[in-house]
Amino acid sequence: MIPALMPTYNRADLVFDHGNGAWLVTADGRRFLDFGAGIATSSLGHDHPHLVGAIAAQAARVIHVSNLYRVPQAERLAERLVAATFADSVFFCNSGAEANEGMVKAMRKTMHDTGRPERFRVICFEGAFHGRTLAMLSATGNAKYLHGFGPVVDGFDHVPFNNMNAVRDAIGPATAGILIEPVQGEGGVRPAQLQFLRALRAVCDEYGILLGMDEVQCGMGRSGRLFAHQWSGIEPDVMSAAKGIAGGFPMGAVLAREQVARHLTPGTHGTTFGGSPLACAAANAVLDVMLEPGFLAEVDRKARRLWADLTTLAAEFPDVIEGVRGAGLLLGLKCVVPNTELQQAATAEGLLSITAGDNVLRLAPPLVITDEDCAQAIAMLRRAALRCRPSAGRIAAK
Ligand SMILES: *Cc1c(COP(=O)(O)O)cnc(C)c1O
Repeated sequence: MIPALMPTYNRADLVFDHGNGAWLVTADGRRFLDFGAGIATSSLGHDHPHLVGAIAAQAARVIHVSNLYRVPQAERLAERLVAATFADSVFFCNSGAEANEGMVKAMRKTMHDTGRPERFRVICFEGAFHGRTLAMLSATGNAKYLHGFGPVVDGFDHVPFNNMNAVRDAIGPATAGILIEPVQGEGGVRPAQLQFLRALRAVCDEYGILLGMDEVQCGMGRSGRLFAHQWSGIEPDVMSAAKGIAGGFPMGAVLAREQVARHLTPGTHGTTFGGSPLACAAANAVLDVMLEPGFLAEVDRKARRLWADLTTLAAEFPDVIEGVRGAGLLLGLKCVVPNTELQQAATAEGLLSITAGDNVLRLAPPLVITDEDCAQAIAMLRRAALRCRPSAGRIAAK
C-alpha cells in the first residue's frame, strides 16, 4: 500500500528531533554534523537565537495578511536587498522554482513591452537545475527529470556550460536572454568560470538581451559574497534567490534592475503567500547576521581552509576521491567510488552530506560552522574514505 506521505523521495531512515548550530540530534539521541543544511538552506544552522527569536516574535503578532496590504517587513527586506545588490526592485515568493518562473516571466514581459515580442526563448546550460515546475523542468532540460511528464514546455535552449562559442551559436532572433547558475549545484557543484560570466554579460549587451542568474543555491552568502556572481565583477539584469534566504523558512525572491522590474505591473504577476510578515521577519533576521561586518569574510576564510583540507584528503585517497570543486561553502567531492557509497560511509561516521550529479558528493554546511566543526567533518570524511577504499572492500569481502 502507498504511504500516506507521497513517496517522491528515497528518504534516509533518520528522524531529527532538534539541532544546534551545525549539529542535528535524532529522536534516539544520535548526533550528526549537518553538512547538507537541508539542501543548502539552513544557512544559520539550527536553533540560531536571533532567527528563532524573530520568527517567534513575528508569529505572535501577525503571520499572514496577503499582498493586498502593505507589509513593512517586506518593504524593509526589499530595501536592504536593493542596497546590497545590483537590483532596483524585488518580488518575494515561496520557493526557488517559483522565483525562476517569475524571472523568466519578467524576461519575456520585458521583451514584449519593449517591442520585441518574438524574443521569448531563454538559453540555459547543460547540467543546470532550475526547479520542478513544468516550465522549470524544461529550463533544467535533464531527461531524467522530464521523463513521463509529457511535451516539454517550449522556450528553452541548452548549450554546454562554460562554452562561449556554443552560447553565441545559440543566440537567435527569438532569444530573450540567458539563464545561468554561477555555480551549478544539483548538476555537480560546477562553478562557471568568472571569465565566462563576464563574456555572457558582454554578449547580452551586444545583442540587447537579458542576463538572468539563478542564485537559489549559490547565493545568500554561500560563496563567501552575498551573491556568487559578485566574484566576477559583472551584474545580471535579473536574479532569483531562495534556499538560504530565510534560514529554512520557505521563501524565494526575484531581484531585478528597474529596466526589467517595471514591466511586472499590478496584475501581471502574483502570489498569495509570498513576502508575508513572517517570512520577511525570518529573512530580515538572516540578513542581520549575514550583513554584520566580517561575517562573509569569515565564510570565505572557513571555506578556503575546508577546501585545502579536502584537497589534502583527496590526495590521500585518490582511489576514492578524484578532486574538489565548488565555491565558498558549496563544495563538491568528485568521487571515484559511487558518490552514494561515500555518502553512506560518511553518514555512518556521523556526517550528513548531499549527492549531486556527475558522481559528486556535495558539502553545503551552515554558514555558521566553526573551525572545530570543520576539523570534525574532515576526520569523519577520512574515516569514511578509509571504509570506501576499493582495497578495504576486497579485504572485507574475504
Ligand atoms: C533548489 C534549486 C531550485 C529549486 O528550488 P525549490 O525551492 O526546490 O523550488 C532552483 N534552482 C537552483 C539552482 C536550486 O538549487
